Amino acid sequence: MARFTLPRDLYYGENSLEMLKTLKGSRAIVVVGGGSMKRFGFLDKTVAYLKEAGMEVQLFEGVEPDPSVETVMKGAHAMREFKPDWIVSIGGGSPIDAAKAMWAFYEYPETTFEDLIVPFQFPELRQKARFAAIPSTSGTATEVTAFSVITDYQKGVKYPLADFNITPDVAILDPSIAETMPQTLTAHTGMDALTHAIEAYVSTANSVFTDPLALKAIQMVAEYLPASYNGDKNAREQMHYAQCLAGMAFSNALLGITHSMAHKTGAAFSTGHIPHGCANAIYLPFVIRYNAVKAGNRYADIARALGMEGSEESLVEQLCAKIESLNKSMGIPATLKEFGIKEDEFKEKLPTIAKLAVEDACTGSNPRPITPEQMEQLLTCTYDGTKVNIA
Ligand code: FE
Repeated sequence: MARFTLPRDLYYGENSLEMLKTLKGSRAIVVVGGGSMKRFGFLDKTVAYLKEAGMEVQLFEGVEPDPSVETVMKGAHAMREFKPDWIVSIGGGSPIDAAKAMWAFYEYPETTFEDLIVPFQFPELRQKARFAAIPSTSGTATEVTAFSVITDYQKGVKYPLADFNITPDVAILDPSIAETMPQTLTAHTGMDALTHAIEAYVSTANSVFTDPLALKAIQMVAEYLPASYNGDKNAREQMHYAQCLAGMAFSNALLGITHSMAHKTGAAFSTGHIPHGCANAIYLPFVIRYNAVKAGNRYADIARALGMEGSEESLVEQLCAKIESLNKSMGIPATLKEFGIKEDEFKEKLPTIAKLAVEDACTGSNPRPITPEQMEQLLTCTYDGTKVNIA
């Protein structure tokens, strides 16, 4: 038996934030990040609309990027005191991810992260509150997914939470909120969305329900990301919807090794963080060439959906070339070397990173299995740009 789960309601379009006026409840807590939502006035609007709905409103502010266990526990504590029946989270992936985890600890104070990281074994949520998510970036799609990532900085581990219980009840895609994204973030999050859709389409867990969502998302990213990057308002709006479609697909079809590699290299090097979407953008063409021996027909489907023609082999190459040219047009480097990772550090850390990437939760649904040795070879290709030819 398989399952396909999405939020019950999706509100989108100009001024869709106003739907908050119609939520039924008595207390809402608003979970938000560092301040851009406040600066742009969206936090004030959110609070005003919830008050108009007749609710008492409390703020939980200052969720950091890559939210910590401590922040989650603080938020859950605030929720237990305030007893909200709505959790409303507005901002990038981080405050929404944090709020999802707070929700679990609000409803089940006695639970632990060790209990929650067992995939799809959450206790039943919605005993105390429902959840509305309002994304300000166009990439993670956490507003429609069953996922959240929380970091334990003391233990140096990330807890990937995965359960349909934390799929929000309401997602609000108000394009004016996503218009505030800076250009580099638009490029990175857009390529993250493309990676979500492509990995979901070729995943071993793909289905007839996820395929159309993934293909439409890929077509829309190809059509709108360049103009969105250059600030076109309509393209920004279309990208906000495209990343959401991609999220609907991968929340149900899962991902692949592009994400495994991005997860394990993001914070691995002393030269600085590799932004998630940027890492995915660099790895994606290499992963496609690695996977093509198993999933060539699926990549060919994607290429055809983008209007390309030719043999399966040629379609796979055209798809990779399309991704490489998108990257180039937005200033995304082609390799880790070009990104600025030092060669001696890369070589030294390669065996550990390769092993961790193979063990990542996203590896299981990749269309082609991979050993740590093959992963070392693949990562080496992404470092220096050598053509992937891995037996
Ligand atoms: Fe991603």
